[in-house]
Amino acid sequence: MRPSAFLLLALALAGCQHAPITGRSQLIFVDESEVASMSASEFSKMKKLPNDKRLAKIKEVGLKIVAAARRDDRAGVLPPTSKWEFAVIDDKTPNAFAMPGGKIGFNSGMFQYAPTDDDIAVILGHEVSHVICRHGSERVSQSMSVAMAAAIADEATKNASTKTRSSWMAAVGVGAQYGILLPFSRSHESEADHLGLLFMARAGYNPDAAPAFWDRFSKIGGAKPPEFLSTHPADATRVKQLQSWLPEARAQMPHQP
Ligand SMILES: [Zn+2]
Repeated sequence: MRPSAFLLLALALAGCQHAPITGRSQLIFVDESEVASMSASEFSKMKKLPNDKRLAKIKEVGLKIVAAARRDDRAGVLPPTSKWEFAVIDDKTPNAFAMPGGKIGFNSGMFQYAPTDDDIAVILGHEVSHVICRHGSERVSQSMSVAMAAAIADEATKNASTKTRSSWMAAVGVGAQYGILLPFSRSHESEADHLGLLFMARAGYNPDAAPAFWDRFSKIGGAKPPEFLSTHPADATRVKQLQSWLPEARAQMPHQP
Protein backbone atom coordinates (compact mmCIF):
# COMPACT_ATOMS: atom_id res chain seq x y z
CA MET A 1 0.00 0.00 0.00
CA ARG A 2 1.24 3.51 -0.77
CA PRO A 3 2.09 5.42 2.39
CA SER A 4 -0.44 8.18 1.67
CA ALA A 5 -3.21 5.61 1.31
CA PHE A 6 -2.09 4.01 4.57
CA LEU A 7 -2.15 7.35 6.38
CA LEU A 8 -5.64 8.12 5.12
CA LEU A 9 -6.83 4.71 6.22
CA ALA A 10 -5.21 5.13 9.63
CA LEU A 11 -6.81 8.55 10.08
CA ALA A 12 -10.19 7.17 9.02
CA LEU A 13 -9.89 4.32 11.51
CA ALA A 14 -8.82 6.69 14.26
CA GLY A 15 -12.21 8.34 14.07
CA CYS A 16 -13.17 10.80 16.72
CA GLN A 17 -11.77 10.01 20.17
CA HIS A 18 -11.74 12.16 23.23
CA ALA A 19 -9.92 12.05 26.54
CA PRO A 20 -12.23 11.61 29.53
CA ILE A 21 -13.27 14.73 31.52
CA THR A 22 -11.08 17.19 29.57
CA GLY A 23 -12.74 16.17 26.27
CA ARG A 24 -9.48 16.82 24.36
CA SER A 25 -9.61 15.17 20.91
CA GLN A 26 -7.07 12.47 20.34
CA LEU A 27 -5.56 10.76 17.33
CA ILE A 28 -5.25 7.11 18.26
CA PHE A 29 -4.95 4.22 15.83
CA VAL A 30 -3.31 1.65 18.06
CA ASP A 31 -5.21 -1.36 19.33
CA GLU A 32 -5.40 -1.05 23.12
CA SER A 33 -5.45 -4.84 23.61
CA GLU A 34 -2.12 -5.06 21.77
CA VAL A 35 -0.62 -2.42 24.07
CA ALA A 36 -2.00 -4.31 27.06
CA SER A 37 -0.38 -7.59 26.03
CA MET A 38 2.99 -5.88 25.41
CA SER A 39 2.70 -4.28 28.85
CA ALA A 40 1.86 -7.61 30.48
CA SER A 41 4.99 -9.19 29.06
CA GLU A 42 7.14 -6.26 30.28
CA PHE A 43 5.55 -6.47 33.71
CA SER A 44 6.19 -10.20 33.98
CA LYS A 45 9.94 -9.63 33.47
CA MET A 46 10.28 -7.17 36.35
CA LYS A 47 11.96 -8.13 39.61
CA LYS A 48 9.21 -8.00 42.23
CA LEU A 49 9.12 -8.20 46.01
CA PRO A 50 5.97 -10.30 46.62
CA ASN A 51 6.56 -10.50 50.39
CA ASP A 52 7.11 -6.78 50.92
CA LYS A 53 4.71 -5.62 53.65
CA ARG A 54 4.03 -2.38 51.76
CA LEU A 55 2.43 -4.25 48.84
CA ALA A 56 -0.93 -4.35 50.67
CA LYS A 57 -0.88 -0.54 50.93
CA ILE A 58 -0.19 -0.09 47.20
CA LYS A 59 -3.03 -2.45 46.45
CA GLU A 60 -5.44 -0.75 48.86
CA VAL A 61 -4.79 2.77 47.52
CA GLY A 62 -4.53 1.57 43.90
CA LEU A 63 -7.88 -0.19 43.95
CA LYS A 64 -9.66 2.87 45.38
CA ILE A 65 -8.12 5.06 42.66
CA VAL A 66 -9.06 2.60 39.90
CA ALA A 67 -12.65 2.36 41.20
CA ALA A 68 -12.89 6.18 41.28
CA ALA A 69 -11.43 6.53 37.77
CA ARG A 70 -13.71 3.89 36.27
CA ARG A 71 -16.68 6.17 36.90
CA ASP A 72 -15.40 8.35 34.05
CA ASP A 73 -14.23 5.51 31.81
CA ARG A 74 -16.88 5.64 29.09
CA ALA A 75 -14.51 4.04 26.56
CA GLY A 76 -13.95 1.04 28.85
CA VAL A 77 -10.15 1.42 28.89
CA LEU A 78 -9.63 0.38 32.52
CA PRO A 79 -10.16 -3.29 33.40
CA PRO A 80 -12.47 -4.01 36.38
CA THR A 81 -10.77 -3.72 39.78
CA SER A 82 -10.62 -7.54 40.17
CA LYS A 83 -8.29 -7.77 37.14
CA TRP A 84 -5.60 -5.36 38.34
CA GLU A 85 -2.18 -6.61 39.45
CA PHE A 86 0.06 -4.76 41.88
CA ALA A 87 3.75 -5.16 42.64
CA VAL A 88 6.51 -3.61 44.70
CA ILE A 89 9.45 -3.55 42.28
CA ASP A 90 12.90 -4.35 43.63
CA ASP A 91 14.49 -1.12 42.41
CA LYS A 92 16.07 1.64 44.51
CA THR A 93 15.35 4.37 41.94
CA PRO A 94 12.28 6.39 42.93
CA ASN A 95 9.73 5.47 40.26
CA ALA A 96 6.18 4.18 39.87
CA PHE A 97 3.96 3.31 36.93
CA ALA A 98 0.57 2.06 35.76
CA MET A 99 0.31 0.07 32.54
CA PRO A 100 -2.56 -0.42 30.09
CA GLY A 101 -4.32 -3.67 30.85
CA GLY A 102 -4.15 -3.09 34.62
CA LYS A 103 -0.64 -3.40 36.07
CA ILE A 104 0.69 -1.10 38.78
CA GLY A 105 4.28 -1.09 39.94
CA PHE A 106 5.80 0.91 42.79
CA ASN A 107 9.58 0.85 43.15
CA SER A 108 10.96 0.10 46.62
CA GLY A 109 12.96 3.34 46.26
CA MET A 110 9.81 5.44 45.92
CA PHE A 111 8.40 4.81 49.40
CA GLN A 112 10.72 7.22 51.20
CA TYR A 113 9.30 10.08 49.09
CA ALA A 114 5.69 8.98 49.64
CA PRO A 115 5.34 8.46 53.40
CA THR A 116 1.55 8.88 53.62
CA ASP A 117 -1.47 7.26 51.93
CA ASP A 118 -2.27 10.65 50.40
CA ASP A 119 1.19 10.76 48.76
CA ILE A 120 0.74 7.27 47.30
CA ALA A 121 -2.69 8.36 46.04
CA VAL A 122 -1.10 11.38 44.30
CA ILE A 123 1.32 9.14 42.45
CA LEU A 124 -1.12 6.37 41.56
CA GLY A 125 -3.87 8.86 40.64
CA HIS A 126 -1.48 10.47 38.17
CA GLU A 127 -0.33 7.15 36.71
CA VAL A 128 -3.82 5.65 36.36
CA SER A 129 -4.84 8.87 34.58
CA HIS A 130 -2.15 8.29 31.92
CA VAL A 131 -3.76 4.87 31.34
CA ILE A 132 -7.42 6.00 31.23
CA CYS A 133 -6.44 8.77 28.76
CA ARG A 134 -4.53 6.21 26.64
CA HIS A 135 -1.49 8.52 26.55
CA GLY A 136 0.87 5.67 25.63
CA SER A 137 -1.21 4.68 22.60
CA GLU A 138 -1.57 8.31 21.62
CA ARG A 139 2.21 8.80 21.70
CA VAL A 140 2.78 5.71 19.58
CA SER A 141 0.11 6.91 17.14
CA GLN A 142 1.76 10.34 16.99
CA SER A 143 5.16 8.91 16.14
CA MET A 144 3.56 6.54 13.62
CA SER A 145 1.85 9.41 11.83
CA VAL A 146 5.10 11.39 11.89
CA ALA A 147 6.91 8.44 10.27
CA MET A 148 4.09 8.26 7.74
CA ALA A 149 4.35 11.98 6.99
CA ALA A 150 8.07 11.53 6.43
CA ALA A 151 7.40 8.69 3.99
CA ILE A 152 4.91 10.87 2.09
CA ALA A 153 7.37 13.75 2.01
CA ASP A 154 9.97 11.35 0.66
CA GLU A 155 7.61 10.21 -2.10
CA ALA A 156 6.39 13.70 -2.96
CA THR A 157 9.89 15.08 -3.36
CA LYS A 158 11.38 12.11 -5.24
CA ASN A 159 11.85 14.22 -8.38
CA ALA A 160 12.80 17.44 -6.63
CA SER A 161 16.36 18.59 -6.10
CA THR A 162 18.36 17.11 -3.23
CA LYS A 163 18.23 20.46 -1.44
CA THR A 164 14.43 20.73 -1.54
CA ARG A 165 14.20 17.14 -0.48
CA SER A 166 16.43 17.45 2.55
CA SER A 167 14.73 20.63 3.73
CA TRP A 168 11.38 18.84 3.44
CA MET A 169 12.70 15.98 5.54
CA ALA A 170 14.20 18.39 8.05
CA ALA A 171 10.88 20.17 8.34
CA VAL A 172 9.16 16.91 9.09
CA GLY A 173 11.82 15.95 11.61
CA VAL A 174 11.87 19.30 13.35
CA GLY A 175 8.09 19.41 13.29
CA ALA A 176 8.01 16.08 14.99
CA GLN A 177 10.45 17.10 17.65
CA TYR A 178 9.21 20.60 18.44
CA GLY A 179 5.78 20.90 16.91
CA ILE A 180 4.00 17.70 17.74
CA LEU A 181 5.63 15.37 20.22
CA LEU A 182 7.02 17.73 22.85
CA PRO A 183 3.98 19.91 23.56
CA PHE A 184 1.78 16.84 23.52
CA SER A 185 3.77 15.14 26.20
CA ARG A 186 3.52 18.27 28.34
CA SER A 187 -0.21 18.30 27.78
CA HIS A 188 -0.29 14.63 28.76
CA GLU A 189 1.44 15.44 32.04
CA SER A 190 -0.94 18.24 32.76
CA GLU A 191 -3.98 16.11 31.87
CA ALA A 192 -2.75 13.28 34.13
CA ASP A 193 -2.23 15.79 36.97
CA HIS A 194 -5.73 17.19 36.56
CA LEU A 195 -7.56 13.86 36.37
CA GLY A 196 -5.33 12.27 39.00
CA LEU A 197 -6.27 15.04 41.43
CA LEU A 198 -10.01 14.47 40.86
CA PHE A 199 -9.69 10.69 41.18
CA MET A 200 -7.68 10.80 44.42
CA ALA A 201 -10.18 13.22 45.98
CA ARG A 202 -13.11 11.08 44.84
CA ALA A 203 -11.35 8.05 46.39
CA GLY A 204 -11.28 9.87 49.73
CA TYR A 205 -7.69 11.17 49.81
CA ASN A 206 -6.64 14.73 50.52
CA PRO A 207 -5.95 16.53 47.20
CA ASP A 208 -3.80 19.15 49.01
CA ALA A 209 -1.12 16.46 49.11
CA ALA A 210 -0.64 16.74 45.32
CA PRO A 211 0.90 20.21 44.95
CA ALA A 212 2.85 19.52 48.17
CA PHE A 213 4.24 16.22 46.83
CA TRP A 214 5.35 17.67 43.48
CA ASP A 215 6.87 20.72 45.15
CA ARG A 216 8.84 18.54 47.58
CA PHE A 217 9.76 15.94 44.98
CA SER A 218 11.02 18.50 42.45
CA LYS A 219 13.62 19.65 44.97
CA ILE A 220 15.28 16.29 45.58
CA GLY A 221 17.99 14.72 43.51
CA GLY A 222 20.29 17.71 43.02
CA ALA A 223 22.66 17.07 40.11
CA LYS A 224 21.10 13.75 39.19
CA PRO A 225 17.31 13.98 39.34
CA PRO A 226 15.44 10.72 39.96
CA GLU A 227 14.03 8.73 37.05
CA PHE A 228 10.45 9.66 37.92
CA LEU A 229 11.34 13.35 37.48
CA SER A 230 12.93 12.82 34.07
CA THR A 231 9.67 11.33 32.78
CA HIS A 232 7.52 13.66 34.91
CA PRO A 233 9.30 17.01 34.97
CA ALA A 234 8.04 19.05 37.90
CA ASP A 235 8.26 22.81 38.06
CA ALA A 236 6.51 25.83 39.54
CA THR A 237 3.92 25.81 36.74
CA ARG A 238 2.93 22.28 37.61
CA VAL A 239 2.45 23.11 41.29
CA LYS A 240 0.47 26.29 40.46
CA GLN A 241 -1.76 24.38 38.06
CA LEU A 242 -2.48 21.73 40.68
CA GLN A 243 -3.37 24.42 43.21
CA SER A 244 -5.79 25.99 40.73
CA TRP A 245 -7.64 22.67 40.37
CA LEU A 246 -7.99 22.11 44.14
CA PRO A 247 -11.53 23.58 44.50
CA GLU A 248 -12.75 21.31 41.68
CA ALA A 249 -11.06 18.33 43.35
CA ARG A 250 -12.49 19.13 46.81
CA ALA A 251 -15.96 19.10 45.27
CA GLN A 252 -15.32 15.45 44.33
CA MET A 253 -14.57 14.41 47.89
CA PRO A 254 -17.08 12.03 49.49
CA HIS A 255 -19.34 13.82 51.97
CA GLN A 256 -18.45 13.34 55.61
CA PRO A 257 -21.27 11.73 57.65
ZN1 LIG B 1 3.14 11.52 34.09
